[in-house]
Parts: sequence; C-alpha cells; structure tokens
Amino acid sequence: IEQTAYQNDKLAMLGKISAAIAHEIRNPLTSIRGFIQLLRPHLLQLGKEEYARIILMEIDRANEIINEFLNSSKPTAPMKQEVSVVSLLKEVILLSESEALMKGCVIQFESYDQQPRVSIDVKQVKQVILNILKNALDAIAEMAELDGERKGRIDLIVKQDVSHAIITIRDNGKGMDRNTMNRLFDPFFTTKASGTGLGLAVSYRIIRNHGGFIKLDSSIGEGTEFNIYLPLVT
Ligand code: ADP
Repeated sequence: IEQTAYQNDKLAMLGKISAAIAHEIRNPLTSIRGFIQLLRPHLLQLGKEEYARIILMEIDRANEIINEFLNSSKPTAPMKQEVSVVSLLKEVILLSESEALMKGCVIQFESYDQQPRVSIDVKQVKQVILNILKNALDAIAEMAELDGERKGRIDLIVKQDVSHAIITIRDNGKGMDRNTMNRLFDPFFTTKASGTGLGLAVSYRIIRNHGGFIKLDSSIGEGTEFNIYLPLVT
C-alpha cells in the first residue's frame, strides 16, 4: 500500500494549519494552566481540589492533541544514530507494559538471538512502534467487548533478512476488514469515535523517510500483524 502525493499534500496542509492554530491556542492554555496552579491551594481549602486536577488533566490532553497534530505535519529529516533493534524494543516495552497490564493484556517479546542494527532517528521510530502498540491495545479492548473470554496478547518479534531488520507487532484484537486495510495509511482515516486518523499516516511517512516500508496482514475477529522493515546497517 503506497501513500500517494495527494495524501502527502494533506499532511503538508495539516502542518500549516496546525502550526498557526497551535500558536494561538497554546499560549492561552499555558496561562490557564498557570492560574489553576495558583488557585489550587484555595480549592483545596474549599475541599474542591478535585476540580483543579480535572482542569489540569483536560488542559494536558488538549496540549497533547495539539502536539500530535504538529508532529504529524512536520516532515522533519531523521536525526540518525546507530542502534540495536532489540534494545530499542526493550525500551519501548518498558514504556508500554504498565498500560498494557492495566488493560489486561500481556506483551511477549522474542528475538531469535538475532541482533540487527539500524541507523535511525530513535525518537521517531519509537513513536511509530508506540502508535502501532496503541492501536493494538485499542483493537484488543474492542475485541474484549465482543468476547470477554479472550485474553489480550501482543507479540513483538525482531528478525532480520539479508537487507532489513523486521519488527513484527501482532495482536489478537478485533482485526479489520478490507476497506479499513486499504485506507489505513490515509491521513484522517479512523474508525474510532475519538481517533484522529493520523497515527499510521505519520508512522508510514517516518518509516519511508528511513528507507523502509510497512507490511500488514489482518483478519476480522482474529487479529492484526504489522511488519516494519528498516534497512540494516552494513
Ligand atoms: P486512529 O488510531 O486515531 O484511528 P490510526 O491512523 O492510528 O488512527 O489508525 C487508523 C485506523 O486503522 C483505526 O481507526 C483502526 O480502524 C485501524 N487500525 C489500526 N491498527 C489496528 C489494529 N491493530 N487492529 C484493528 N484495526 C486497526
């Protein structure tokens, strides 16, 4: 599945709009955040500290959304460094394990004793893996609503072929139909009530900027498998 010029234009346009809006919204949010912090002790006295907590949480969420939009649009050149894929994945697992466990899902890691090394922008590629893991957790949560018996499981596997490191992320979530598979990398395509539809469009672009590609396989009610290919350091 290839991302088209049209899809790239959509991301570029999104970039310009979000940069303009972000500036106008971030500043007021920052000042609201500051004043709430100042009010906090007074709210505490009134026994209403809960309100401050909720306001801060919602402001942070709004900021996160702004950041997501900004990140999705900036086609930043990767700042490359040579790393081991296995250590990269171990770090990502550390970041996601508690959230997965909270959702009753286990993450299994396997590496076949291979130690592929790649030259990547660590921050960007971590973001890609986190995006795919988050989708896997969402798909597992949606599956749990249909079948309460099934235990959520995500397999992370690192392998290599002659030219590429291959990172497999497999979930036993709800899977997806053909239409979803075809549109998955479209900016703004989402099937979620509160989705942005940007995660995979951006992930795709990041991996392409690294000279790699993403393959995917899915079946409804069974689960989904993403394979990220990144060129090996030679
Ligand atoms: P968002 O998560 O905001 O919807 P994404 O670009 O990350 O945006 O994903 C687009 C769509 O692809 C999702 O709404 C979902 O329908 C589908 N999808 C992605 N990953 C999975 C998965 N692991 N299992 C099932 N569906 C998925």
